[in-house]
Amino acid sequence: MTPLLGKAPAAADDQLGALLNAAVDPMIIIDERGLISRFNAAAERTFGYRAAEVIGHNVKVLMPQPFRREHDAYLERYNGSGEARIIGIGREVVAQRRDGSTFPIDLSVGEFRMSGGRGYVGILRDISERKRQEELLRQSSEELRLIFDFSPMAILITDLDGRIFSVNRACCELFGRSQDELCTLRHSDLMLPEERAIPLEAFERLRRDGGSCECEINYQRVDGSAIHALHYSALATDEGGKPVMFIGEIIDRSELFAATHEAEQLRARLAHVTRIGTLGEMVSGIAHEVNQPLTAIANYASACRRLMLGGQSNPGELLGVLEKIAAQAERAGQVIRGLRALTKRGESQRQLLDCNQLVADVVRLVEFELRGTDAQLYVELGGDLPPVFVDGVQIQQVVLNLMRNAMEAMNGLADPKLVSVRTFVPRPFWVAISVSDRGPGLPPEQVQRLFEPFFTTKKQGMGLGLSICQSIATDHGGELRYSTNEWGGACFTLSLPGSSDDEGV
Ligand code: ADP
Repeated sequence: MTPLLGKAPAAADDQLGALLNAAVDPMIIIDERGLISRFNAAAERTFGYRAAEVIGHNVKVLMPQPFRREHDAYLERYNGSGEARIIGIGREVVAQRRDGSTFPIDLSVGEFRMSGGRGYVGILRDISERKRQEELLRQSSEELRLIFDFSPMAILITDLDGRIFSVNRACCELFGRSQDELCTLRHSDLMLPEERAIPLEAFERLRRDGGSCECEINYQRVDGSAIHALHYSALATDEGGKPVMFIGEIIDRSELFAATHEAEQLRARLAHVTRIGTLGEMVSGIAHEVNQPLTAIANYASACRRLMLGGQSNPGELLGVLEKIAAQAERAGQVIRGLRALTKRGESQRQLLDCNQLVADVVRLVEFELRGTDAQLYVELGGDLPPVFVDGVQIQQVVLNLMRNAMEAMNGLADPKLVSVRTFVPRPFWVAISVSDRGPGLPPEQVQRLFEPFFTTKKQGMGLGLSICQSIATDHGGELRYSTNEWGGACFTLSLPGSSDDEGV
């Protein structure tokens, strides 16, 4: 048998006394005048009185005011009229210990008949702890309510079918609708109709897998204006782990979205301006290149004229000269087409392209410039490159920039000048374009600043080229890196993720 700890109460001298002392809850018996006749062991522990100290005293000594004052009258009224407020009903009241401290109790009172009249037995339960827990619960639900109501973040709670049943003030303000109105809607009713599919799929997954999810949702205000938002949602479960509702926070990112869009447009405009600037610098080389076929065309045309005026217009010979004219016109046309593509301005357009083709087109333009110099161009186009899903003009702008920087870095150097352009597969499903030169490279302290906007070491430089190139690279999910090559010169490598053929369709 497990030994009982603590001191056992003194043995009762009758059966009822033993029964009362065995009870866990305090029990008190009084007569119809309110005088205590029994006070069990639990009551002694709870009130701090010995039974002998209270037996024969009015039970009101166990009550604080105003109950103490009112008790006699209450008993009298009940004894006279039978009108019960506690007896047989039970009630929550306040009791007072010997030391004057008070505590809440649940009191139930039963009535019995005895020789001298009526008697009452009171069973009470100290509910201080329950009250404390209730108060804590009340406080924390009040805190939660305040957080919910006054959170600057819009909060929306739905059942598992997406029916809204609770929203906070910020949510009402965000959508321009009242709480009552929102609570008649489904979450999906607030989304732009054509953009519901993706978030609804995310909620379905969340409902199936649990946890939380984050998705971008385009909502609509009551006035029809759009809200670009980030929505964080969590699946709430009951005690048994059964999903019960979605609790979602909506962060309005419309301003950020507009700013990003504007920044993107500005960047595209800047890229366009610098591209035009670069081409402007190349114009004499390009003009020279276009001039050559034009001169050749003029020469061939006057040869034709001479042949015809001389009456020796042998059709075969004339045809040969005309074909040469056509070939030269095609050559000039190619240069113009390349230029037009690069000077074009407009929304970024991505398509599946071959990097080798992109590089070859840029190389053709740069070649004109190189011709007048003693620099050599070495081009190595790798095989089996996966296609890339890119804005071709932007990628060409990067290559053009890197090649021109490479040429400028070797200006005034006595060493053999070499620009090497390579395309290769750096790792599976990626494509790299590297531009290397035999220039002096960069001192370490400049390497760190290389991609900063406005960093330049050139007198006429703007310092925007590389920062634009880098943003084009990251915008395409790729990267632009600097390294030193085997000659100690600079090597810039643009890496781009390859695409499968079905992408972009
Ligand atoms: P800018 O050409 O107008 O200076 P960039 O952003 O294209 O602007 O280049 C920034 C700086 O990076 C250049 O001024 C130069 O100091 C350095 N740089 C770029 N390319 C090379 C290179 N191939 N070799 C050495 N330094 C380079």
